Amino acid sequence: MTTESAIETARAQLRRAVDQLKLPENEWQTLSTPRRILEVAVPLRRDTGNVEIYKGFRVQYSTTRGPSKGGVRFHPSIDMDETVALAMLMTWKCALTNLPYGGAKGGIAVDPATLSRGENERLTRRYTSEILPIIGPEHDIPAPDVGTDEQNMAWMMDTYSVNAGFSVPGVVTGKPIVLGGSLGRTSATGDGVAISTQQALIAKGINPLGATVAIQGFGKVGYWAAIALEQMGLKVVAVSDVQGGVTGFSSVSSLWDHFKAHGDLNAPGTEKLTNEELLHLDVDVLIPAALSDAITEHTATKIKARIVVEGANAPTTPEGDAILNDKGILVIPDILANSGGVIVSYFEWVQDKQNYFWDADEVKTNLSTIMLKAFKEVASTVEERSVTWREAALMIGVGRVAEAHRLRGLYP
Ligand code: GLU
Repeated sequence: MTTESAIETARAQLRRAVDQLKLPENEWQTLSTPRRILEVAVPLRRDTGNVEIYKGFRVQYSTTRGPSKGGVRFHPSIDMDETVALAMLMTWKCALTNLPYGGAKGGIAVDPATLSRGENERLTRRYTSEILPIIGPEHDIPAPDVGTDEQNMAWMMDTYSVNAGFSVPGVVTGKPIVLGGSLGRTSATGDGVAISTQQALIAKGINPLGATVAIQGFGKVGYWAAIALEQMGLKVVAVSDVQGGVTGFSSVSSLWDHFKAHGDLNAPGTEKLTNEELLHLDVDVLIPAALSDAITEHTATKIKARIVVEGANAPTTPEGDAILNDKGILVIPDILANSGGVIVSYFEWVQDKQNYFWDADEVKTNLSTIMLKAFKEVASTVEERSVTWREAALMIGVGRVAEAHRLRGLYP
């Protein structure tokens, strides 16, 4: 993946939305410029005693509609351009789902698999103290993303709280439940992907019951999407992780049991396939739920799925997207399809602010209300403006940020 393409893709998508909304040139300038970017050096004392320096980033792309919000990614290829691109996507995602947030993203250029637990803790805490002046429950609220989880959020919350002198649970979301996390946050992105899949099938006139699905990625998004889809009566026929994929398993939970016990997907009775073969399976729905740029001009031509639901952020390049559109494949864009994570992050933040915690059913019901509303709004825009689902979702998200900006005016 080239990081250049992530920022180029994000800017090209914004340009198109600005043109379709007929916004003036000065609004393009405002919308295409991040509000605040921070690069920090993160020194880490390795278990061996050696000290290494890693690059850390935090981008607050927009604060127009509220505090900025978005995940922290630990991945060796993350850089400032990619962080800006992902923070831009968070901005449109929060606006599309009408959450009272701007957009942010952060990360460290590190492969978390190379860190011991102690090293990961030290790196997370040092990164948190480096970005501490610009985060906070009213400023910018980090969350998990690729390569980070609820334990990282616990360390971030603790580091911030120790410096404040009291517990500040609302500084991050995606925390463990005992520290003020929300029920349903762990599965939220996958649950939202499943809701999107069901709605997309209905929109395309395909009965969700028994519809077939292939999922690239079996992590925080792919696994929970697979579980939720199976519960809804769809048939998950293939999944993959970085090592490759499998098909022929009896159920997602049986495959997960094998994965937990052996660390691989090769359960007895399954057949291996490459990640590329998985993308080209003849299924109703393909869900890219791993990293960016999975669907490119090279892989898109052979895709046979009727629908693509973007579980990952930016999994499709503009060239790949154009090919899918030409082939008549319905693409449910990332900012709609994977918005379940940040929606339940919002619920977590609201619960932390009120010190009053909801039951799991309340979380699920409210998640589905917000997602279905966003779905309806995107579907109406598709209809009214004869645009793709991606264009419609961006027009709504970008349009709301532009309107908020106009109403607030410029200071001084
Ligand atoms: N990292 C997730 C995303 O890309 C969640 C962000 C959040 O919960 O703030 O949407």
